[in-house]
Amino acid sequence: MNERNTKQKNLILNAIKSSHIHPTAEEVYECVVGELPNVSLTTVYRNLNKLSEQGVIKRILIPNQPDRFERNPTKHYHICCERCGAFEDIHEPNYNLDLDGFECKESGYLILNHEIIFKGLCPECRKQIRI
Ligand SMILES: [Zn+2]
Ligand SMILES: [Zn+2]
Repeated sequence: MNERNTKQKNLILNAIKSSHIHPTAEEVYECVVGELPNVSLTTVYRNLNKLSEQGVIKRILIPNQPDRFERNPTKHYHICCERCGAFEDIHEPNYNLDLDGFECKESGYLILNHEIIFKGLCPECRKQIRI
């Protein structure tokens, strides 16, 4: 890997590390384009794919929405604000470890792990609509 590629990769990784919003590829692109004027969205996608495959970052798949990326390796859930689209970690309720490794008697499936994306209203939106 040449110097330019390493610099690109590091900036992309930093963009993920320093973000709490679980950025999409486009948001990562917006974040790094200032420092890497020649970078393309395709390059950002390629780096994000590689980093996800290597397990350095985590890809969050959301139905009908672009994938998001994050660095936090701990098991946790997410919440998406239905009004403004804010997307964050949520630590209550706690991740339910009992579900991982659960053998479903009825279907015969073995659950390996699970992901939950709660839908709700963020504090800011609650303030605005007074809920
Ligand atoms: Zn909101
Ligand atoms: Zn997260």
